[in-house]
Amino acid sequence: MTTELDPAWTAEELSSIRDGLVLAAELLRAELAILDSASAQAVSASTLEVLHDEIDIAEHRAELMQDAVQVENTAAILEQTEHVLARLDLGLYGTCEGCSASIARERLEAFPRATLCMTCVAA
Ligand SMILES: [Zn+2]
Repeated sequence: MTTELDPAWTAEELSSIRDGLVLAAELLRAELAILDSASAQAVSASTLEVLHDEIDIAEHRAELMQDAVQVENTAAILEQTEHVLARLDLGLYGTCEGCSASIARERLEAFPRATLCMTCVAA
């Protein structure tokens, strides 16, 4: 029974995975919007800080750097989430992008956005 080793995802499972990914994408978009407005505020605050001492300026720079990193990470996760959703809609969920093998179920359960099997990740 090869299907035991490599069980196909049921329509129900795929639908609940899809719901989870859609929700995650919505949350990520909301988070990005908040980060965008937060860094916009930080920019105007740091302009004012130029008039104050250098320690404050340095702190603001550190905050801005953190925001930028967070925006980048969040944007990357959002992109990956949308990518997986697109693949799911094409019927390719759980198929490795590298070698077209099936990605282990337990890997996808732990990391639903995975698009590479463990062999390709390690390569
Ligand atoms: Zn692979």
